Amino acid sequence: MGRRSRLNRDKRKGHAIWSQTQLLSLLKNPSQFTPEQRSRFALHLVKVSRRHRIRLPSEVREIVCRACNTLLHYGDNATIRIRNGYKIQTCLSCTAVRRFPYRNDSQKVNA
Ligand SMILES: [Zn+2]
Repeated sequence: MGRRSRLNRDKRKGHAIWSQTQLLSLLKNPSQFTPEQRSRFALHLVKVSRRHRIRLPSEVREIVCRACNTLLHYGDNATIRIRNGYKIQTCLSCTAVRRFPYRNDSQKVNA
């Protein structure tokens, strides 16, 4: 059973990562979907990542509220301020505040 269960777990993880990629590509096409649909994709993406303990892509982490898993639309249900080299993001659905270092080369994340 040991060997078989490990194999299944690896397969499931691969499937989860595949789902993540699919959902991410859907999220990146905002014009094709309604905000409701996109919120659903975002929520699903967060859930899949948590269930399978895989990292949420950084671009998703910045647009989904950690506290209430809402997809954030700046100027709609979220505000963003730049201060002291940080992006300060406020979710207006649950008032959670998050800060991100703000740099032009912010693609890289320190391991
Ligand atoms: Zn929130």
